[in-house]
Amino acid sequence: MRITVLYTVIFAALFAGFFFSAYHLFASQLDRDASNEVTDRAEGLRGYLKFENEIPVFRFDGALPENAPLVRDETRFYQIYDPANGRIVAQSYEMRMLGSAIVLREHESPVQNGFFDVSTDEGRLRFHNDRVRSPAGHEFVLQVGISLKSMQDALNRFSRLGLWLGPLALLLAATSGWFMASRALNPVRDIVHAAQKLDLSNLDHRLPVSGANDELDELAVTFNDAFARLAGSVGEMKQLTASMAHELRTPLAALRGEAEIALLHGGSVRELKRVLSSQLEEIDKLTKLIGQLLMVTKAESGLLRLEHKPVDVQALLTEVDDTLSVLASAKGISLTFEYDRDLMAIGDAQWLKHAVLNVIDNAIKYTPEGGSVAVHGTRDGNYVVIDVRDTGMGIPHNAIPHIFERFYRADSSRAKDIEGVGLGLNLAKWILDHHGGEISVSSEVGKGSDFGLRVPAFPSMSKV
Ligand code: ADP
Repeated sequence: MRITVLYTVIFAALFAGFFFSAYHLFASQLDRDASNEVTDRAEGLRGYLKFENEIPVFRFDGALPENAPLVRDETRFYQIYDPANGRIVAQSYEMRMLGSAIVLREHESPVQNGFFDVSTDEGRLRFHNDRVRSPAGHEFVLQVGISLKSMQDALNRFSRLGLWLGPLALLLAATSGWFMASRALNPVRDIVHAAQKLDLSNLDHRLPVSGANDELDELAVTFNDAFARLAGSVGEMKQLTASMAHELRTPLAALRGEAEIALLHGGSVRELKRVLSSQLEEIDKLTKLIGQLLMVTKAESGLLRLEHKPVDVQALLTEVDDTLSVLASAKGISLTFEYDRDLMAIGDAQWLKHAVLNVIDNAIKYTPEGGSVAVHGTRDGNYVVIDVRDTGMGIPHNAIPHIFERFYRADSSRAKDIEGVGLGLNLAKWILDHHGGEISVSSEVGKGSDFGLRVPAFPSMSKV
């Protein structure tokens, strides 16, 4: 509606501008024509002016056919008067009918060889003033006029045409404006309808793209991209929920089975204690799993803001050492730490610790008794590199591209019944990605694995 109104207003302004300019041009052209005509007539009449006893008179043979226009038109409005006293010495019949108002007015103002217009009952007349001299030198004023009625009529007709055409053109402009606006906005309406139909069950639905490569296509493509991203996120969420349910079901089923057997068969206190401690283990596993799930969902929520502060890598590794040394020594694995002094990274200490902890925890988990895990911290240009090398079971070549995927576990680790859910490395990668760092791996089955974590160093020369 607004486009139509705007279009109509602009069109109306253009039409009015055009019409008034045309009117003005037309009127001034007609005006010039009238002045030329009255001059021609005056000159024509002068040729027939004679002086008889110092009195000016017109002499021509009215019977001659070539004098017909002279008799009919050119002598219609003329008069000659004496400027000395304003006395009229010759006058056409029609001038006499109009009265003396014209003479008097012109007599009062100085007579020039110019034009003047007079309004009469016959309509407007244009007069041309001319001085004529008798042979004796007496001066008279010759006034020859024409009626401007036809000019006025033409201008009136032109104005009437404008008055008719104006509203008609406006109506046309409004209709075509409305038509064009609806045509232009139709694709937007299509997009709106398509977007209204969209919900979680049909996120694969896409908006129509006409292929014209215009702004509307750009809009549709932008929406489609957003839908695709949304569909991706929703898909991941669905997968996460399904996997979560699956992962929680197994330990819960084990817990329930054990409790059922204990209830049915009872047994000695020792037996019941054994069941309870096994249940505690399962509950610990569940707690750990839920803790990891919480971290992943928190990370994925998009609401999380990682800190961007200097991180003391030595302090971080010492804390990790404290947490994992008991586990390592219980498994008979030598866990060693070696790092440069004053290593400073930049980022969020808590989240970086989680990443390092997950990688070293894996190294201990997937290394059999008697093996070793060596952690090495150095600076490499603008990065701090934490290298975790173990002498464990290694990762099969075909599994390496997948180990950072959520819930992925290599068959070898499943087969050996090593505890885990496949979230640790996924989270570690997410953390490093969001620090502007990276995590890399090289591994050989039966020999061990080497994980490298690169975190931007502080102070850093590079922009992170
Ligand atoms: P989880 O350890 O809970 O299974 P992760 O995401 O931490 O899950 O690891 C994914 C998979 O990568 C593991 O299941 C395992 O197969 C493999 N993996 C990770 N770290 C090592 C390692 N140090 N040695 C051998 N395999 C590893």
